[in-house]
Amino acid sequence: MGQRVLVLNASYEPLQLISIRRAVVLLLQEKAELVEATEQRLLACGFSLEVPLVIRLVRYIKIPRRMRLPCSRRGVLMRDRETCMYCGAQPGRSNLTVDHILPRSRGGQTTWENVVTACRDCNHRKGGRTPEEANMPLSVRPRQPQYIAFALLGELERHDAWRKYAYG
Ligand SMILES: [Zn+2]
Repeated sequence: MGQRVLVLNASYEPLQLISIRRAVVLLLQEKAELVEATEQRLLACGFSLEVPLVIRLVRYIKIPRRMRLPCSRRGVLMRDRETCMYCGAQPGRSNLTVDHILPRSRGGQTTWENVVTACRDCNHRKGGRTPEEANMPLSVRPRQPQYIAFALLGELERHDAWRKYAYG
């Protein structure tokens, strides 16, 4: 069926999608534990197992630091799920802007931590002020997305059981 299983790091960050067969091997070798399964069961090596949807590695895998994501408009919109971080509006990609939390005019940098998705209205209303000055609190504190989670984002969106791991 081409059904796949999401592998999480020991820290619950998504790592990759693998086949059910590979997931079962990891589970049987006790290199991973079952986090979520479907209702179905399968037979493997004489065991009856639930069909895994999400497994978690028992040992933490270190992700190289060089995998830093460049901060782009597309990336920021994706991270923020194309939602205005000030009012929660989702007016569509072309009506969204990238807002510098500390305005550029005041030395604000284009970094993952200093930019958020904002609808045109909010961006205009905020102007050259900080969220505090404009009395426009942010719904979440922006962070740099996990490289691997980001690469998988489109895939993770496809499954309810996976989606919650996409945005850590
Ligand atoms: Zn808004």
